[in-house]
Amino acid sequence: MTEIEIEQEKKEILRQYRKLLRHAKPFLQGDDAKLIKRAFNMSQEAHKNMRRRSGEPYIFHPLAVAQICVEEIGLGTTSIIAALLHDVVEDTEMEIEDIERPFGKKIARIIDGLTKISGVFDYGTSQQAENFRKMLLTLSDDVRVILVKLADRLHNMRTLDSMPKNKQLKVSSETIYLYAPLAHRLGLYAIKSELEDLFLKYREPEKYIEIVRKINATKAPRDRFVRNFISPIQKELNKHNFKFNIKGRPKSIYSIWNKMTKQEIPFEKVYDLFAIRIILDLPPELEKAGCWQVYSIVTDYYQPNPDRLRDWISTPKSNGYESLHTTVMSKTGTWVEVQIRNKRMDEIAEKGYAAHWKYKENENSSESGLEAWIGRVREILERENASAIEFVDDFKHSLFNEEIFVFTPKGELKKLPGDATALDFAFEIHSEVGAKCIGAKVNQKLVPINYKLKTGDQVEILTSNKQRPNEGWLSFVITSKALTRIKDELKEQKKSAALDGKEIVLRKLKQAKLEMNSEIMDKLLGYFNLKSALDFYYLVGKGKIDPKEIKKIKNFEDKPRKQASQNVSDIESFQRKIKTATGEKRDQLLIGEDMDIVPYSLAPCCNPIPGDAVFGFVATHEGLKIHRINCPNATELLSRHGNRVVKAKWTSQTEVSFLTGLKIKGTDRVGMMNDVTRIISNELKVNMRSISIESDNGIFDGSIQLYVNDTKHLATLTKKLENIEGVEEVARFDVS
Ligand code: MN
Repeated sequence: MTEIEIEQEKKEILRQYRKLLRHAKPFLQGDDAKLIKRAFNMSQEAHKNMRRRSGEPYIFHPLAVAQICVEEIGLGTTSIIAALLHDVVEDTEMEIEDIERPFGKKIARIIDGLTKISGVFDYGTSQQAENFRKMLLTLSDDVRVILVKLADRLHNMRTLDSMPKNKQLKVSSETIYLYAPLAHRLGLYAIKSELEDLFLKYREPEKYIEIVRKINATKAPRDRFVRNFISPIQKELNKHNFKFNIKGRPKSIYSIWNKMTKQEIPFEKVYDLFAIRIILDLPPELEKAGCWQVYSIVTDYYQPNPDRLRDWISTPKSNGYESLHTTVMSKTGTWVEVQIRNKRMDEIAEKGYAAHWKYKENENSSESGLEAWIGRVREILERENASAIEFVDDFKHSLFNEEIFVFTPKGELKKLPGDATALDFAFEIHSEVGAKCIGAKVNQKLVPINYKLKTGDQVEILTSNKQRPNEGWLSFVITSKALTRIKDELKEQKKSAALDGKEIVLRKLKQAKLEMNSEIMDKLLGYFNLKSALDFYYLVGKGKIDPKEIKKIKNFEDKPRKQASQNVSDIESFQRKIKTATGEKRDQLLIGEDMDIVPYSLAPCCNPIPGDAVFGFVATHEGLKIHRINCPNATELLSRHGNRVVKAKWTSQTEVSFLTGLKIKGTDRVGMMNDVTRIISNELKVNMRSISIESDNGIFDGSIQLYVNDTKHLATLTKKLENIEGVEEVARFDVS
């Protein structure tokens, strides 16, 4: 490098630093400027011999991260200092104490948090998940750790060009997996969209370029459309003396791509390429009324779609988002989304919680949505036995879903992710309520626990002291809270069954004059083809392994016990096996002497729920009605119309199943049938009604009637069956 180039570099560094100070100036107080200067000098000194892959001096990176914190997130001095020093402890000789001395405990803790969460981030490994967990733990200490980390990630994504291809893919995968959802949850919409767009740029470069090109090519007619659309509204707003800003906001490249991919449509078919945004400039006390007045003006000109009104002004999203959205019909016959909000709301929407925070910093504000969220995150993190990977999955789930608003019987509002079920709601109320939940009443109507809630539903949870969580529950809850609690409970149940099992095993060994040691355990695990002692004890405790078999250990060979595989011709023993395997029945109402499943409805006079003692009554015009034994009308019905009473009883639990059929075709082999039943009865705990299988010249042709919970359940089952070696085709048929 020449002298001149080095001089130029130095000048550029200073220029960036001054720009940072200029943006920070409005909120600097007391010694802030001095502290920032000190942090800048310290960072420059520490990184002085380092260059980024692009060749530029390293200090450009911390400077840029600090700039993002100020300009794009709206953070102040503490975060600027943390951003300037964020890589110092990790990448240089400097220790955390060197930071604490001049800058104090608070900043040292933030840097410490930032240092801990980097380290080796390998996509999809438990290491990464564990790091993510740590990051969120620190978040509950100081939310700035996560905001600076997001700024760091954003700058790394912006400068990803100089990285080799494999690194680009790794970094952008992490970004879409963790950071974009996190930004979304924190309400940092601008950063979230940019992260997503950059992800697409590296993941699908051709698609990315194509969309950008088409957005630009269609700009002129789009602008013309926006001008025509807003012109009458502008006039009217002026007439009412509103101060406002109105513009067409293009959709992000990523969301257009998402729509094209999901709906399998070309760019030209994506109709909502942009939204109209009206930003008012009103004092806080007038903003709500003002937004509704503007809504009224817009809908005077354009017909609104009543299903698409979103009022996040009266009920803000839990990440702080406030806005009034409506979709209206333009004069050219296309739907257009119109977003109405005040300037304050817009700042929160773009810059997110930090901007929000600034407004509230000096108030004793009531618990905001984000604080509530951080509280929930902390609750999950502090549960020690939640594995890190499970945690990330659960967490991601709760990030990606839109929210719904539902009410308790007393009218209290609860926010839940979209697709949440009655059971999620029960766990939201209290973990004990969740664990004992047997059903719910939604808007006065009885529903099963896996009922999907909708915004506006009023939900009353029904509980029973006999109820306990089971594995099936995991498939119809989505909130982290419910998932974590159910998993904890199942682990407990497993442990206690295993304890019983262990006692039995030790007793049996004693009878055989043997003592438990690792050699014997290995032998047992090998024989029963199991992975861990816990699994083994559990299966014994549950009665799935016959204790008598254990005594035969002396005769064990060192190979797994013979699989009880049958030939297809051996159907009888096979069907017997199914009957035992499906001994655990699901929640069904069985009716009549044959305990059949027939259509029925629940009597409104006593509203029976699964688990109640019930009987069926053939009503003259309405078919079969189910009443509780202690229904107020029961005595009369039973005594006077005994001939119309039919026996009815719930099988054990609480879930609705449907009878359907599957045809399975493939090439037959030894053990094939065994594999099919194992999946149906053990793995997915499906109840079978009948099965018939024919084998001809090595062709396997089966038809099974079974009970499934829903189509999703059926799809999972079908997929699993298709994966069996030899199975060629699995098709559904209707059982008449
Ligand atoms: Mn960095």
